[in-house]
This record gives sequence, structure tokens and C-alpha cells, in this order.
Amino acid sequence: MHIAMIGAGYVGLVSGACFSDFGHQVVCIDSNAEKVASLNNGEMPIHEPGLAELVARNVGQGRLSFSSDLKSAVSGAEVVFIAVGTPSRRGDGHADLSYVYAAAREIAGVLPDQAVVVTKSTVPVGTGDEVERIIREENPDAKVAIVSNPEFLREGAAIRDFKHPDRIVIGTDDARARSVMAEVYRPLHLNASPILYTDRRTAELTKYAANSFLATKIAFINEIADLAEKVGANVQEVARGIGLDNRIGQKFLHAGPGFGGSCFPKDAMALIKTGQDNEAPVRIVETVVAVNDQRKRAMARKVANAFGGNIRGKSIAVLGVTFKPDTDDMRDAPSIPLITALQDMGAEVRVFDPVGMEQAKKVFENVTFCDSAYRCAKGCHALVIVTEWEQFRALDLKELSTIMACPVIVDLRNIYSPEEVARNGFLYCGVGRPKSV
Ligand code: NAD
Repeated sequence: MHIAMIGAGYVGLVSGACFSDFGHQVVCIDSNAEKVASLNNGEMPIHEPGLAELVARNVGQGRLSFSSDLKSAVSGAEVVFIAVGTPSRRGDGHADLSYVYAAAREIAGVLPDQAVVVTKSTVPVGTGDEVERIIREENPDAKVAIVSNPEFLREGAAIRDFKHPDRIVIGTDDARARSVMAEVYRPLHLNASPILYTDRRTAELTKYAANSFLATKIAFINEIADLAEKVGANVQEVARGIGLDNRIGQKFLHAGPGFGGSCFPKDAMALIKTGQDNEAPVRIVETVVAVNDQRKRAMARKVANAFGGNIRGKSIAVLGVTFKPDTDDMRDAPSIPLITALQDMGAEVRVFDPVGMEQAKKVFENVTFCDSAYRCAKGCHALVIVTEWEQFRALDLKELSTIMACPVIVDLRNIYSPEEVARNGFLYCGVGRPKSV
């Protein structure tokens, strides 16, 4: 099939590359000419494991290309995906749909008569209706169908997630569009990935419900962690104890500094707004967002508590600033309010991240950027692990204890055993575990 993918970001680029790997003919279009130029030079604009190889292979075999010429790419496509960003709208937290509607307007006049337009961006209920209205306004006689096909991939494991999804959700009442989508996903259907066909509004709501539910699990275990600290229990064992119950499941029960990233905060907020607009408030999610917002600064206070509440003039090493490992994405990363809070308390902050440094430099002011974990830790009064990159799991604790000014480790991801760290002479502070300060 001939596919046009509008938006070559984390989702569009991975989806486009995977579809081409399935054997489809794919053009990824992006309005950012620099991004298209670097892709055409074989350079990836984002860090995603395995992506460069996947792209190179499919470009080499002539199935994948990149362009900023929307007209010619769309006019030859049977299926047009919209995978542009839907960030939080400044000021009110609704999803900003301006990029989606702009893309719909741009394609409206050039769509082939039988094209299937698919919204892959995460969009609030009813957005598909508006995309359809925009396209029909421009092109009243076209037999186009508008489908919702939300994406569930996770950055850092995006290719695997796309090729082995827990499920694919396809929202349309149009029988022709349904069979076109079945063809698009045929290789996954053959792999027995569950495909859920439903109506468009249900598909749109499903994505927000999924992300908000996962965010709720994280906020829940974080509150249990705080309680565990107070009562002398171990949150990791509580998480295991509840997670082994199949009705609960073990995933998303890791206590930490609070959720962040390009999706959960904005999607939970957008669901809250949809609920309020429709007089069906999702109060659980409202609470989740409020609790999570307060958590990042609370984590900075946790660092300060290791010094009796005062870190003025102290030098703090922060390891990991991207919102999760294996990505360079800094959008809404917990490290941002955390570092601001440390600075507000008068600390000097040093930062190291294995791949996020370039993005981090655009975000942080007045921090010292270091080129390794050890150079970051040198002379510091505390080491704070914010993102659990693999390389931070086996730091040489002996070495750290000799180069740091003060032996304090605040492990906000619980990746170390408190006993092991303490054995090396450190004051150790995890999340929701005994021996925390
Ligand atoms: P992104 O910001 O990385 O990429 C969006 C791209 O779209 C950018 O490169 C931008 O230049 C381009 N663009 C914007 N308007 C355009 C236009 N009119 N024509 C051509 N290109 C245009 O965003 P992302 O992280 O890939 O997210 C895209 C959507 O997918 C969002 O709705 C997001 O919520 C959803 N989503 C994201 C993830 C994730 O992990 N990032 C996972 C699932 C769903």
C-alpha cells in the first residue's frame, strides 16, 4: 500500500519506518525542513534504539522516503496518517489541536478520492468529526473516510512496541476503511496481535483512558511509597505483593519521582478537560495530576532532608534528566521541576545524561553539564539518580566514595540495594524503602 505519514516525530517516524518494514511504500512528510534534510542524510533527529538501522534498511530497499512536499506525497497515497504533535494548549490544558487541523486543511485539497485518512496523534473525542468536517468543506464530493488509530508505543522501546503491540485500536464505522486498515496491519494480524475494531469516538477515548489509567497506577504506588516510609514498610515488596494478583498486574508499580514525559501529563490533563466540558468530571485523574505535580518538588525536599533540610551552597550531582531511559526526550521530564527546586533551595546543580545532554542544554540554566557520571559526582555533596539509565545501575561505589565531597546517594528509582550502598559508606535514601532518611 502507498502510505503518507504526516509528522516525522517520535510516533510518525517510528510508525512510518515500521510500516515500510512490513512492505508498504511510505513517505514521511514533515513541515520541519531541517528534520527532513537530516533524515535524507541518514541522520536520526531523535534517539530511539534500532531506528537508524531500520530506516537505513528500508530507505536502501526503496520503500521509505522523506519529504516536505506534502502535496505530491499525499496525492499518491491510499492511506494518509496524521501523526503531528498534540501538546497541552498554553493556559488551559486542553489538547492543542492546531497542528492536527492544519494538517487536515493542507491535505483536504489534494487527497485522492478514495483515500483513508487516519488520525494517529492522540486527540480528544470528537476530533475525528472535526477533521472530517474540514476535509469535506474543502472537498465535498470526495469518498474519503476518516479513521482513529491511536498509537500506544513507548519511547525507548518504540520499534518493538509497534511491531508487537498488546493491541491495535481502529475506530471507524466505514466498512471500506476497515478493510484498508486490515491490509495496513496485515503482518501484525498474521502475528496474532489483537485488533480491536470500534467506532471513532470510542477509539479516541480509549487512548486517553489508557494513559490516564497508567498514570493513576504510578501516582497510587508513589503515595503508598510515602506511607511506607512513614510506617517502616518496603514499597517494592508491597508492589510485588499486589502486582502478583493478575487483576492488578506488576507493571507501572515502580515508586519514583512522579510521572512525566511527552504523553502522561498532557493526556491526563486533556482527559480532565474533556470530562469537565462534558459534565462528567474524572475526579480520580484530577487528583492524580495534582498529586503528581507536587511530587517533583517534594523529591527535592527529600534531597535536602539528607542535610537536615538545608542544601544552600551544596553541590548536587543529578544523574539522568530525560523523562525515561533510552530516549533523548525532555518534554515534561520530572528532572525539570526537581532541578529548579534544588536551585531554589540554593544548591549548585551538576548534570549528566547519557544521550539527553543536547536537549537538556536547551532546558536548564545555571547548571554545570558534565560528560560522565563520575565527573558529575566529583566534589559533590550528594548524588541524585533521577532517570534509571542502564549505565547508572552499576556505578563503582568505592570510586564514588573517594571522589565525592560527602557520601550521600538519593536514589529516586530504587535501583540500588540500600545495604550495598551503605556498606560502601554512603548515606542512602531511596523511595518508600526502609533506611530512607
Ligand atoms: P513530535 O513533536 O515528536 O512530532 C511531531 C512532528 O510533526 C514534528 O516533527 C513536527 O515538525 C511535525 N508537524 C507538525 N505539523 C505538521 C504539518 N502540518 N505537516 C507536517 N509535519 C508537521 O510528536 P510525537 O511525540 O511523535 O507525538 C505525535 C502524536 O502522537 C501526539 O499526539 C502524541 O500525543 C502521540 N503519541 C506520542 C507517543 C510518544 O511516545 N511520543 C506515544 C503515543 C502517542
